[in-house]
Amino acid sequence: MKLSEIFKTGKPTLSFEFFPARNEKAAETFNQTIEDLVELKPDFVSVTFGAGGSTKEGSYELVKKLKKEKELEVVAYLAAFALKKDEINAVLNSYQDLGIENILALRGDPPKDADVTQVSAESFKYASELAAFIHQNYSFCLGVAGYPEGHIEAPSLKKDIEYLKHKVDQGVDFIIAQFFYDNVCFFDFRERCQKSGINIPVLPGIMPVYSVKMMEMLAGSCGAKIPEKLRKGISELPEGDTKALVDFGIEYATGQCEELLKEGARGLHFYTMDKSESTVGIVKGLRNRGFLTI
Ligand SMILES: Cc1cc2nc3c(=O)[nH]c(=O)nc-3n(C[C@H](O)[C@H](O)[C@H](O)COP(=O)(O)OP(=O)(O)OC[C@H]3O[C@@H](n4cnc5c(N)ncnc54)[C@H](O)[C@@H]3O)c2cc1C
Repeated sequence: MKLSEIFKTGKPTLSFEFFPARNEKAAETFNQTIEDLVELKPDFVSVTFGAGGSTKEGSYELVKKLKKEKELEVVAYLAAFALKKDEINAVLNSYQDLGIENILALRGDPPKDADVTQVSAESFKYASELAAFIHQNYSFCLGVAGYPEGHIEAPSLKKDIEYLKHKVDQGVDFIIAQFFYDNVCFFDFRERCQKSGINIPVLPGIMPVYSVKMMEMLAGSCGAKIPEKLRKGISELPEGDTKALVDFGIEYATGQCEELLKEGARGLHFYTMDKSESTVGIVKGLRNRGFLTI
């Protein structure tokens, strides 16, 4: 089913993002992650795509497994960086043949060692070009990424929203937001979207705290602020106590989610990092308190 149909029910959606397992060991634990999270009955799941096609086969196999074996609604991501149009068509056709109805159109980030001068002039420079191409040639329900705190390369928040509006105008149906730890950033972003005439659903991205190192690294790479309340909470935990940290991360994100739902968020999109414990803890906590009815 297309996400645009699911949104019509008016109920906040629950969704989980996965990436293809990087090696055999990761694949073993990942199967259990999928089992744990499928039990929560998400409205949809999503699968990332390595820029430059680096995970093309892995992404395809995971999309296939989730769609065909698990019978889940899947949003397949496509990052256009360095791909030629025939390569993009091949990926889209393969997803179409699987019965996939939803695509997230992304630019992707050049790998650190990439020589961008070698990228074909034929490949798309911005996600808006990919979105337009997909809209003109396919009938997928189309999503794009949005950045509550601004994309890290954007000259200003104002410009970033202007570019987002242009991207949405290419025939886009929904936005999945980058994660944030301060809900004010999301509420401000949603308001800026509305003011600029973006009226499609914007799903907030939730990134539970998995480890301090990962939190610092991920927040640093996308420019997400770490609020004082989160830092202070972590600093008060017994040093090296991983369980206490994960539990605190669950509590913090559950509070975030509660407020987001109270303020009318159209759904919650979890960056699972292919782990289940935190997401299961948050979703069960929300359901116990009457949020997110199935
Ligand atoms: C929900 C989500 C999922 C993601 N999944 C993946 C994934 O699977 N694989 C992956 O490789 N990456 C993924 N990313 C990361 C994403 O690829 C990077 O953030 C990338 O840097 C930007 O991608 P974009 O699609 O937002 O690009 P764009 O929308 O093209 O924006 C990129 C930058 O260009 C600017 N810009 C846009 N249009 C113009 C214009 N016309 N003129 C000048 N500047 C412009 C924007 O302000 C922004 O700074 C994901 C991000 C999110 C939020």
